[in-house]
Amino acid sequence: MEEIRSQSINNHCKAIKHILIIEDSPALVNHLKEIIDGRFSFNCDISLNESSARDMIRRKRYDLIITDINLPDSTENFIGGLANDNNRVIVITGRDNDECRTSLLELPIVDYIVKSDAKTLDNYLIKTIQRLNDNRHTVIGVCDDSKLARTKICSSLKIQNLAYLEFEDGQQALDALKGEQPCIDLLLTDYEMPRLDGLELVRRIRHSFTNDKLPIITLTGSDKPHLLAQFLKAGANDYLSKSFTSEEFLTRLHLNLDHLYMLRKYAQVIKELEHISIRDFLTKLYNRHYFFSHIEHITANAIRKNIPYAILMIDIDFFKKVNDTYGHHAGDVAIEHLATVLKDTARASDYCFRWGGEEFLVLIPTSSHDESYQFAERLRKTIETSSVYVEDEDLTFTITISLGIALGLDKDANHLISKADEMLYEAKQAGRNCVKIMD
Ligand code: GH3
Ligand code: MG
Ligand code: MG
Ligand code: MG
Repeated sequence: MEEIRSQSINNHCKAIKHILIIEDSPALVNHLKEIIDGRFSFNCDISLNESSARDMIRRKRYDLIITDINLPDSTENFIGGLANDNNRVIVITGRDNDECRTSLLELPIVDYIVKSDAKTLDNYLIKTIQRLNDNRHTVIGVCDDSKLARTKICSSLKIQNLAYLEFEDGQQALDALKGEQPCIDLLLTDYEMPRLDGLELVRRIRHSFTNDKLPIITLTGSDKPHLLAQFLKAGANDYLSKSFTSEEFLTRLHLNLDHLYMLRKYAQVIKELEHISIRDFLTKLYNRHYFFSHIEHITANAIRKNIPYAILMIDIDFFKKVNDTYGHHAGDVAIEHLATVLKDTARASDYCFRWGGEEFLVLIPTSSHDESYQFAERLRKTIETSSVYVEDEDLTFTITISLGIALGLDKDANHLISKADEMLYEAKQAGRNCVKIMD
């Protein structure tokens, strides 16, 4: 069996910080600098010819060089020299012909962009730079029994600022993907391999990871007519069949990476929105909206187990006076203080809500008369004996709270909330700083 070069992730990726643009048209070079500066916080230098660019490159290490082909002082193989010297190079060319394409594709460059209309050039360039920067966090799995094929793919991934992990057959890839989280972000796999072929590998991976969690692109030299459809049906996201060009390979890879990055960004945004929508901004406790979206599940569970749930209504005493005496900011700090004590006193299974202004609600999913009363008393005492400290004003004061408790198996939680409210009113009537519980 071939010896795997490295079992560990090959990571050579770098953030882009310094860019050099080489272009003899002052209008275009300034335009490109402007769109890059407008979009990224990179350090972007410009050069109008090859000789000054050579000087600049000698003095400073650039993470990305964007260069025109036709410069007034162009010399033979300037771009090839740059690319072979481990520079990341994007070529901008006015020559829109296959001969130019073929010669550029032989060079180890990131990409070439044809100067068509300005908007197309801007969009493509920005997207390419963005992707290069995003790629540095991405690991591509490369599964192929041919070491030569792997080496070729990996060297092209390296130019794209992508890390990679090599597998010499399907079984090895499958073994590496045993965990909860995949160790790679995208898999490129061959079809014909010993032990486990690419098709079976795709099927087995899909038992654990969906195609948005781990995209798979299959690369096959086979000309079986039904194979590609089978790959897609098994759960591959994309494929490249026999005699694909390196450019085709990269465009497919980019398309799938762009899709992956977009999905991840959306997932992150959704997570943040969910967090915002169920929490109170000041205290980070749950809000009323979350109570009503969650309560049905709690009441159903309580009814099924025939163990009552408890609702505690908590209200700060004479809070208006706190605001009037110490100011609104101090009032906010008092609210945060109560929220902190609540979080510390409640168990992981209890739910704490900021119900409104200086009112809080605690939902105990399974409770008893004594247990909920003791909890409320503990809370009341902790507040009574602790103090609120307003750091920026070096101000200390104390507050007290009144609590009302109702327990039951009510399907409609509003009923228990009203009862807890009545108990809270009784506590206020009884002189405040006390707990009243429903009989
Ligand atoms: P009681 O003991 O009867 O509950 O008296 P109270 O003064 O606490 O009750 P009242 O309902 O009359 O006043 C509540 C005050 O809480 C009025 C309102 O301005 C203040 N408040 C509500 N939300 C906030 C907030 O987020 N921050 C601050 N600082 N004050 C708030
Ligand atoms: Mg093979
Ligand atoms: Mg109050
Ligand atoms: Mg109130």
